[in-house]
Amino acid sequence: MTARLIDGKAVAAELRKTIAARVAALPFRPGLRVVRVGEDPASGIYVRNKDRAAQEVGFDSATLHLPVGTSQADLLGLIARLNADPAVDGILVQLPLPPQIDTDAVIRAVAPEKDVDGFHPLNAGLLASGQPRLTPCTPKGVMHLLRAAGCVLPGARAVVLGRSNIVGRPMAQLLLAADCSVTILHSRTRDLAAECRRAEILVAAVGRPRMVRGDWVAEGCTVIDVGINRLPDGRLVGDVDFVAAANHAAAITPVPGGVGPMTIACLLENTLEAALARRV
Ligand code: NAP
Repeated sequence: MTARLIDGKAVAAELRKTIAARVAALPFRPGLRVVRVGEDPASGIYVRNKDRAAQEVGFDSATLHLPVGTSQADLLGLIARLNADPAVDGILVQLPLPPQIDTDAVIRAVAPEKDVDGFHPLNAGLLASGQPRLTPCTPKGVMHLLRAAGCVLPGARAVVLGRSNIVGRPMAQLLLAADCSVTILHSRTRDLAAECRRAEILVAAVGRPRMVRGDWVAEGCTVIDVGINRLPDGRLVGDVDFVAAANHAAAITPVPGGVGPMTIACLLENTLEAALARRV
């Protein structure tokens, strides 16, 4: 391996420390409410981790756990109460939601100024029009990692593999806002390998284990692997063939320990930003 490792755990720990220090200096505690509906076990772990991280930086944080059979009207009623609650700065509804609930309607129901996931169409539109406000946590975390790795962004050829609303699209917008020249790849792209080889910065967010082969990575590229995939033997791997890519890349994130820890740290950062925008 010749690539430098980009240590997401260390960058996230530093960001959380900075947030805790900023919170300690405030005359109020930023309020975060995490809403979980149903018993999805992975969601249970995510929600617990978010709540714990929020408590650790000094937020007033709580999880509201609703039964799996909750109606859309009841969930929208809860969101309306949280929107109106002056002690609440950030609302996060953990996805996926049970099938009787219209996820898009729930995303639209969260007050944009409390939308710490950055999924509301108003926040997505602000980002797309170059006026970012609250931006999705995972791509925001990737920008922190690129900067921490010393990546020169203006003018860089950045390639984003994936175009989901949660990762790929906002990732491309954030790179564009940082003056990269951005290409977005997806399932209908003709020659993925050739497109990836042009990248000076390559962000993979497809959800396909080790899809990006070593020879897709140009010499000196910075590779950010957003993917989290569980193999049949239980191991977690990314969307990039780490061992092969590390022989070409200048710097690369591991999975786990790369982008993952940044997502929660950026949720905390968004909550602090939302609180400051509302209260200061
Ligand atoms: P998603 O909604 O399933 O989107 C996947 C994207 O990849 C789509 O745009 C899809 O293209 C594209 N794609 C799928 N198969 C492809 C192929 N064979 N060739 C080219 N493009 C292909 O997934 P997501 O929510 O963006 O998540 C992506 C990965 O990131 C997953 O592994 C997820 O677990 C991980 N993730 C990690 C974090 C974190 O905190 N580290 C957070 C969120 C997600 P089309 O649009 O054409 O279908």
